[in-house]
Amino acid sequence: EAKRSGGGQFRFFAPAMLRGMEERRTLEADLVRALRQGEFVLYYQPQIDLRDGHVNGYEALLRWQHPVRGLIPPDLFIPLAEETGLIVPIGDWVLGEACREAATWCAGTAGGVLPKVAVNLSARQVAGDALPITVARALAASGLEAGRLELEITESALLEDGDAARILAGLRELGISIALDDFGTGFASLSTLRRFPFSKIKVDRSFVRDMATSPEARAIVQGVSELAQRLGMVTTAEGLETTALVEMARELGCNEGQGYYFGRPAPVARLHASAATICATCDTAGS
Ligand code: C2E
Ligand code: MG
Ligand code: MG
Ligand code: MG
Repeated sequence: EAKRSGGGQFRFFAPAMLRGMEERRTLEADLVRALRQGEFVLYYQPQIDLRDGHVNGYEALLRWQHPVRGLIPPDLFIPLAEETGLIVPIGDWVLGEACREAATWCAGTAGGVLPKVAVNLSARQVAGDALPITVARALAASGLEAGRLELEITESALLEDGDAARILAGLRELGISIALDDFGTGFASLSTLRRFPFSKIKVDRSFVRDMATSPEARAIVQGVSELAQRLGMVTTAEGLETTALVEMARELGCNEGQGYYFGRPAPVARLHASAATICATCDTAGS
């Protein structure tokens, strides 16, 4: 997966990472410097209501604007940040920055409802007791309402820890939404859905992509949507790239869609332009 989303950069960067401890330490020192000198940036990708086309929210996606290597996608540095524990301070920055930026967004989309911001969390961030404090601090510092923050967590990030259910339930009580990211790629155990207080299931891109050709993939997406609905959760189809897939996701019961069809991740300066485009091309999006 890193190979695909990394494109040409992967071949340049990964061999260096594999060259051993020396290179790892260089990259690690680089990450520390990146954080100190403000080289991280957030891109945002819209999450679209499939009934009326309005923007429910934006997912914040981390990028590293490296002074020499250029823009580096997260798959190339987050694994090392996770291993070294640097993901904790980096994740704190992401939360703070995403909340700060979201607090300035205006209700430029249909219905005048302010879009949410969705932030990805790693296992380490969910495991400790620090998360509620970090989140509370990010909300207080930005003035963002708790109801506009969504936290995205993968199943594998929840395997490691016994306290996560309690911590997430506490966050949910504050009004924060919790999304299960990349559903279907992990162990996809049904007890995960029961143990954790998710408000949303994001069906992984691999199933969504295969809907075009595979009746099994369609059955799975439909089944997940129905299950989610019965559990009081929303379903999001990830990786929607074509009109046909958007139609299919809607017909199979997904409430929300995200993908290149609606917009690629973009820096905050380009957000308002893309939101306007989405509203203009959606037939039912009203005032
Ligand atoms: P994710 O949370 O599942 O994010 C969705 C990824 O799919 C993003 O890749 C996005 O650019 C890509 N994507 C969206 N729509 C499409 C589409 O239609 N087609 C295709 N082919 N791809 C699509 P990105 O930005 O490279 O991020 C990769 C992963 O890195 C994320 O997967 C997430 O797990 C992780 N990540 C990103 N930002 C953060 C962060 O701030 N903290 C942590 N812990 N992880 C992050
Ligand atoms: Mg995500
Ligand atoms: Mg995902
Ligand atoms: Mg992912």
